[in-house]
Amino acid sequence: MNPPINTVEIIPFTLGPIENNSYLISDPASRDSVVIDPSFNIQSVLEQIHDQKLRVKYILLTHAHFDHIAGVNELQKALPDNPVIGLHSLDLALWRERGKALVYGFQLDLLPDPDFFLDDGDRLSVGGFHIDILYTPGHSPGHVVFSIPDAQAIFCGDVIFAGSIGRTDLTGGDQAQLLASIHKRILCFPDDTRLLPGHGPETTVGLERRNNPYLI
Ligand SMILES: [Zn+2]
Ligand SMILES: [Zn+2]
Repeated sequence: MNPPINTVEIIPFTLGPIENNSYLISDPASRDSVVIDPSFNIQSVLEQIHDQKLRVKYILLTHAHFDHIAGVNELQKALPDNPVIGLHSLDLALWRERGKALVYGFQLDLLPDPDFFLDDGDRLSVGGFHIDILYTPGHSPGHVVFSIPDAQAIFCGDVIFAGSIGRTDLTGGDQAQLLASIHKRILCFPDDTRLLPGHGPETTVGLERRNNPYLI
């Protein structure tokens, strides 16, 4: 008999000028939750947290580009639960530069340093489910993706998109490294694994394995 699958509720939000996907993920039984990559205009996420009376344990960042971290300050200030902020240490320099917001003409307040560093193989528990951290450099030096086995889902930031892959022309980018990350850390999952990217529509491992022009 298969072990029982815990319920995981995933709510996507498309936010800000670069149409970032921010994700609110929760365990309905315990109301513990996590926010991945809070972007600009975080108000709708806060409303959802409030309406469902969720307790946010973690704010997790796939990487430190400004569009993925723009909502961190506002979110942390608005929540009474003191969620802890997790980032990979190799994106700390980028984080301290506010994700290069100024270079792209965006204003971002200085961010507090992360509360802890995410490392490959780490496992975080949130209510009845857990999140596995997979290190996937190439788009940025400290990029990670978040796998939630109970949801058969991977939150993949700017590593892979429906029909495309992350850019590697930014500081610290490396295309060979990115392709190795995709092949070794994402395409190894079963075909029906959901891929929830940092931009654009949801896809699956199988669809990308068969159709993504950068991977065939
Ligand atoms: Zn990025
Ligand atoms: Zn992005």
